[in-house]
Amino acid sequence: MTGPSDSTGPFDKLVGDARAEFDHAESKPLREAWLGLDLPAIRTDLVQRLRAAGIEEAEIETRHLLTHVLAPATLGQALANPALVSWQRIAHLADLAWARLTRKPLSQVLGSQPFWTLDLQVTGDVLTPRADTETLVEAVLKARPDGALDVLDLGTGSGAILLALLSERPDWRGVGVDLSPAALDVARRNGEACGLTGRAQFAEGRWGGGLADQGFDIVVSNPPYIVSEVMKTLDPEVRDFEPALALDGGAGGLDAYREILADLMRLLRPGGLFACEIGYDQGEAVSALARETGLDGVSVMADLAGQDRVVIGYNS
Ligand code: GLN
Repeated sequence: MTGPSDSTGPFDKLVGDARAEFDHAESKPLREAWLGLDLPAIRTDLVQRLRAAGIEEAEIETRHLLTHVLAPATLGQALANPALVSWQRIAHLADLAWARLTRKPLSQVLGSQPFWTLDLQVTGDVLTPRADTETLVEAVLKARPDGALDVLDLGTGSGAILLALLSERPDWRGVGVDLSPAALDVARRNGEACGLTGRAQFAEGRWGGGLADQGFDIVVSNPPYIVSEVMKTLDPEVRDFEPALALDGGAGGLDAYREILADLMRLLRPGGLFACEIGYDQGEAVSALARETGLDGVSVMADLAGQDRVVIGYNS
């Protein structure tokens, strides 16, 4: 594989690509190892390196990384015409692969993560949206049809929950609150990318504390709920690269729920719905806190793996 030689079809963009130089010192060993290898050999080598670094889904992740650097060509097209793949693309792959080998989450390496029907930008300032959290989106959509409803997302992070809800309900409007200005930047960019800026606002604040006398029909949250002691046992991707602010729920894992619920009835309109994500073993504890707060019809819902994942309740 030598310099860019492609000139037609999906490879057009590879020629004279004005992208930043990919000559980072850290990824030099990868570039050197791959010099002279063809695309299938590089692919095999990357799978082996990822697996050796303890990454279980090494084949799938290699496919994602290759797909990312080869676009707009597909992996299939590139494998069929490996001579057309520019060295610049392989140097880009080396940079991304090096980052992933440090156990940086794939979402942060690629800069985005699919959630619901959306493709959301992700940085180290936000929790990577997880498939589990789609259970919360589904529960709220099931409970409430379209209509002029106001939604509040407490600890919005990337904006994932709020934006997924608004994308499905054209008449809903919403506010996403977060303590982290850096997270709010990500959420705002996602709101723009999803074409939802007209209906989604983002504001800095600690849970609902800064929202005086506002009424919402739906309040949602995926707060930090991991017991502090458990934090150090998490996968390196989560422990070392995702914001502790979005994960650490204090000594019993329930600190954030207590704070959120302390303010909830002031913010939730009569008839309003509250829905939050929970840890697999927190169904009873969070349900009890919700009932103490004065919510009715409190129930727990399971995710696709059958684990308790969502608590909902109503301000009847
Ligand atoms: N489910 C996430 C995890 O296990 C935790 C999310 C949260 O604390 N809200 O990494």
